[in-house]
Amino acid sequence: MTGVFFAGYPLDRASAKRSDVGFLAAAQVDPDARLLLLQGGKPFVAAPNGPRGPREIAWLSAGAAPSLAGTDATVLFLGLDAASAPHFAVEAPKDRDLAGDDGLLAGLGDFEELRGIGPMLTASDAALIGAAKAVVDWHARHGFCAVCGAKTEPASAGWKRTCPDCGAEHFPRVDPVAIMLPVKGERCLLGRQGRFPKGMYSALAGFVEPGETIAEACAREIAEEVGLTVIASRLVADQPWPFPSQLMIGLIAEVMDEAVTLDPEEIEETIWITREEARSLIHGPIEKGGARIWSPPPMAIAHTLLKAWAEG
Ligand SMILES: [Zn+2]
Repeated sequence: MTGVFFAGYPLDRASAKRSDVGFLAAAQVDPDARLLLLQGGKPFVAAPNGPRGPREIAWLSAGAAPSLAGTDATVLFLGLDAASAPHFAVEAPKDRDLAGDDGLLAGLGDFEELRGIGPMLTASDAALIGAAKAVVDWHARHGFCAVCGAKTEPASAGWKRTCPDCGAEHFPRVDPVAIMLPVKGERCLLGRQGRFPKGMYSALAGFVEPGETIAEACAREIAEEVGLTVIASRLVADQPWPFPSQLMIGLIAEVMDEAVTLDPEEIEETIWITREEARSLIHGPIEKGGARIWSPPPMAIAHTLLKAWAEG
């Protein structure tokens, strides 16, 4: 258990089985095989026991995949649990009313937005839903070959697409993002983008570019966004982030001075806070300069970074 949300995938991915057609056919009709259903990227979860109560995946029988999602749907093999029970995921067509009063799944649960229910899920359910959502989303966006433009076909139990025209193979993408907390002595810098909710400040972030190390991306992003020079940086944690499919790589970066020069395209405002203020901020909003400021919830790696520095 790493302590970050969406980490700690609980199954053996059994990737060698992904191309074993005989195994997969038998596994899908195995009475112990379980199915995670999604629709529009939203997982099907059991009804809550109270509005803030714990949430869990409403597992269905894997044999029901064709009737729920159609015979053409890509059934993703998630892996095997400790008892060797196969687990699958499938995305149902958006126009099919499954959870409504007249639907096949009436009364069994609902499709819910992962961002909303994330904090109420167990770590293992969050990791499974995150992985399934990211792959399902990739299939929806990558139906055509990036080499020749032909329509591609799913393969390897949903973990690949192949092009029947040119033979190219395409794999689910993961986009690395450096997310970092600039620090100078006993203060750290938080920033806010214009699209953030009022009062929210977070760590800085940007995509790692081709030809860059993580530390180089961290230093470049800090220089571009807030005009500060990084002296040293260290990796603190990383996190699969399924919105849609980033790998967030968290760093704490020591900077040379505190004189910020903003790139207004990226960052609307920054704020230096003390370690003591950071300790309060990880538990809830604080008053600072006459305003109420707050930072992302524990589900986000920005929280992990702030906590690591505040308590370090
Ligand atoms: Zn092609």
